Amino acid sequence: MSRYTREIDIPGVEASRAAMVRRDGLRRQAQTVLHVKGKQHNQQHRTVWCGRHVLTEGPVPVFRRLDGGKARLGQVKTCGSVWACPVCAAKVAEVRRRELTHAMQEHVKAGGHAYLLTFTFPHYMGQTLEDLLPKFDQARNRFQGSKGWKKLMQVANPAKEIEAGAAGRVGSVTSAEVTYGGANGWHPHLHMLVFCKAGAFEEGEADEYGRLSSAAIDYFRGEWVRHLEKAGLVDGSNRQWAFDYALDVRGGKGAAEYIAKWGHEERWGLSSELTSSHAKTGRRDTWGTKDHYTPFQLLHLSIDGDGHATCAFREFVKAFDGKRMLTWSPGLKDHFGIDELSDEDAAAEQELGLQDEHQVGEIGQDQLTQLVTWGMYGRFLAFVAEHGHLDNAQQLIDDWIAACGGGVRRRGNILVDRLIVPEHGNRYFFKPEEVEA
Ligand SMILES: [Zn+2]
Repeated sequence: MSRYTREIDIPGVEASRAAMVRRDGLRRQAQTVLHVKGKQHNQQHRTVWCGRHVLTEGPVPVFRRLDGGKARLGQVKTCGSVWACPVCAAKVAEVRRRELTHAMQEHVKAGGHAYLLTFTFPHYMGQTLEDLLPKFDQARNRFQGSKGWKKLMQVANPAKEIEAGAAGRVGSVTSAEVTYGGANGWHPHLHMLVFCKAGAFEEGEADEYGRLSSAAIDYFRGEWVRHLEKAGLVDGSNRQWAFDYALDVRGGKGAAEYIAKWGHEERWGLSSELTSSHAKTGRRDTWGTKDHYTPFQLLHLSIDGDGHATCAFREFVKAFDGKRMLTWSPGLKDHFGIDELSDEDAAAEQELGLQDEHQVGEIGQDQLTQLVTWGMYGRFLAFVAEHGHLDNAQQLIDDWIAACGGGVRRRGNILVDRLIVPEHGNRYFFKPEEVEA
């Protein structure tokens, strides 16, 4: 490797290590926020045990990627929760973005066009997600089931003798997102990538903000507002606002930009640089009218002791748990030749994907407990990524863990799978047991 190559390599590797530290810090906060005192380990949110559930009673291996950008522990279970866990969310998003990009490329190659529709509604401080989300879903289902939409967007189904609508749509992918602001509370919105033909809305050129307009789009705006009103999310006082802003339609460029940004750290507030100055002051009274935070930015605020943000994050996880990050319409994944892959598998697949890694040492349960207790998990992995290639790696690992501590002590229990061999019968099984720090 020439000196030149090394120099351009290093920033990427450093950024990767910094991201590990950042995501782990947020995950540790999510674990603190979601942990319910007094509940059994199996009643806790699964993110509580992410990276802290050891699948062996022996020592766990420590792996390092050859380029020095990443490190991980083996034999440790991750949670696969895309809403509550910043570590797993980043891994799953990587897989999902690849799927989306592939679909977009295939569709364009076949001469198709994609639109990006964004649906939202007027919302106010004090409204709960529990109240808003079912109404939003109701409006959307009725909108998509309406005659006008079907006439344009019906997907052909020869088996049922259903003909394609005018847009020649092959399917859509939707992504439910939400931000939270000091002025207007929860802001749920839905992005819908529609894979169809060009000119589906008989639209002209986009305006300076990339928004499309046409008589057809105006018609759908009116329809969307009508369904919002039926669902109780719009009334006379905000009907005009809803007509102007609650449905936004963009063309191929908007769709491509959306996919390119989708799931990136900045977009989700995983990157600390982008958290507003509010996070740094950590004062409740700085919630301003222009603030709006992604759920992971709420975690940043929570680290600084913001109780308002802590409660909002809990509410968000409760409302979004079990939902998909992206929903593909029936048959669309097949259409593009994409296999079904669960979030848990998508999170795990990345681990297995590290073929260019090597084992540099191992740590015991007590050492893992130490890292969890002091919130040093991410920093430890970054240390291994940077120095794990040295000959005395095991010694460095032991010394580093022995010296860590001194920060804020946290609840540090871990889960360990114990092998249970019943006296009768010929089966054995593993039972997770909480190990006190
Ligand atoms: Zn996780």
